[in-house]
Amino acid sequence: MTEIARTASRRETPTVSIDSVKVGSNHPIVVQSMTNTDTADVKATARQVAELARAGSELVRITVNTLEAAAAVPEIQSRLDMMSCNVPLIGDFHYNGHQLLKEVPECASILAKYRINPGNVGFGRKKDEQFATIVDLAIEYGKPVRIGVNWGSLDARLLARLMDENAKLSKPLDASVVMREALISSAVDSAKQAEQLGLAHDRIILSCKVSDVQDLIGVYRALGERCDYPLHLGLTEAGMGSKGIVSSTAAMAVLLQQGIGDTVRVSLTPEPGQPRTDEVHVAQELLQSMGLRAFTPMVTACPGCGRTTSTFFQSLAQDVQEFVRGRMPDWKRRYDGVENLSLAVMGCIVNGPGESRHADIGISLPGTGEAPSAPVYIDGEKQVTLRGDAVAAEFLDLIEQYVETHYPARIREDNP
Ligand code: SF4
Repeated sequence: MTEIARTASRRETPTVSIDSVKVGSNHPIVVQSMTNTDTADVKATARQVAELARAGSELVRITVNTLEAAAAVPEIQSRLDMMSCNVPLIGDFHYNGHQLLKEVPECASILAKYRINPGNVGFGRKKDEQFATIVDLAIEYGKPVRIGVNWGSLDARLLARLMDENAKLSKPLDASVVMREALISSAVDSAKQAEQLGLAHDRIILSCKVSDVQDLIGVYRALGERCDYPLHLGLTEAGMGSKGIVSSTAAMAVLLQQGIGDTVRVSLTPEPGQPRTDEVHVAQELLQSMGLRAFTPMVTACPGCGRTTSTFFQSLAQDVQEFVRGRMPDWKRRYDGVENLSLAVMGCIVNGPGESRHADIGISLPGTGEAPSAPVYIDGEKQVTLRGDAVAAEFLDLIEQYVETHYPARIREDNP
C-alpha cells in the first residue's frame, strides 16, 4: 500500500532564538498574538499580555508608538514578572522606532525582538539611515528582528521603481504581479541590507502580509523559494468572526501543508465582547487539526441530525469542550502528554460507537428510537453504559479518571 504523505517537510531555515523560544528549522511552529490595548496603559497591557500567554500565545507583540509606550515597557515587564508570566515581548515599530529605541534604552533591552516594517521605517533619504539605526540597536542589544512587509504600507519608492520598469517591458505584467514582486523584494532586500549592516543571518525573520488568500499563498511560496529565513505567517486584516477564521485558515493551511511557515498569527478583529484570546485558540486549533502540534485535548463531535433526540447532545459536547479547556491548565502542569488526549461525543448509533472507539474516551448518546442508554468506550473498548440524569457529570468524571490514570506525572522543575 502506498503511504500517503501527511505534510511536506518544513523548509530548511536557521534557528532564530527569541529569548527561550526557538523559531525555524524543525522547532515547533510558534503561535503568536498581538495586544490591542494602549501600551502606555501599563495595567491593561500587562493584563492582556498575561491573558494571551495563558491562552497559549508563545510570543506577544505590543505596539510601541510613542515615548510613553516605550517608557511603559519596563513597567509592563515588571508586572508580568510579578505574575510569573515569562512570555517574550515583541515591540512593533513604525516611523519612529529608531528614536524610541535610542531614547528609551530599557525598552530596547527588555523587548525580546523588534518588528520593523520597511515601508514605514522612514521616508526619502532618511529611510536607510533610520533602518540602519534600528538594526545597529538590535545588534547592540543582541535582539532578533522581524522584517514585516505589509500590503497596506508597501515601500512606495520600490513599488514605483518596479512599476516603471514593468511599463517599459514589451509585454508588461499585470499590476498585481508587480505588487507581489514588490512585497517580496522589499522583505528580501531589507534583510540583505540588515545583514550588510552586521545583523547575523540567524537573527532575521521575514513576513509579507496581504489580505487576500490567493495572494498570500502566492507571495509566501515565492518568498520561501527566494530565501532561507524563517517565515512568520498571517493573513493581515483577516476580518471578523467566521470570515476571519476561514480566510486565515484557508491561506495558512495550504502554506503549512507545503512546509512553509515557522510562526503564525491569526489577525482576527474581535467582535464586541469577544476576548482577544480567540485569535490564540484559532491558531492552536489550526495547527492541531493539521496534526502539526498538540495543545489541548481534541473533542470530536458529530454535527447532529434528524436522529438526534434533543439538545442534550449539543450541551454535552459543549460541556466536555468547556470542561477540558477549564481543566487543561492544571492537567498540563501535572501530567505529561495530556494535550494528546482525544475525546468523542456522538449523537447516535450510526457513527457513534465507531467514532467513540477511535477516541481515547468517547460516548455515544441514544438517537431517536434507541434505548435511553449511552455506552462509553475507553481505549477502543466498551467499558460502561451511562443512563439517567447524571450522564453528563459521570462522563466528565470518567474523563478526569482517564487523565489521572493514563498520563505520567510531570516532573516539576522546582522539586528538590
Ligand atoms: S452520529 Fe447519528 S446523530 Fe450524529 S450526525 Fe451521524 S447519524 Fe446524526
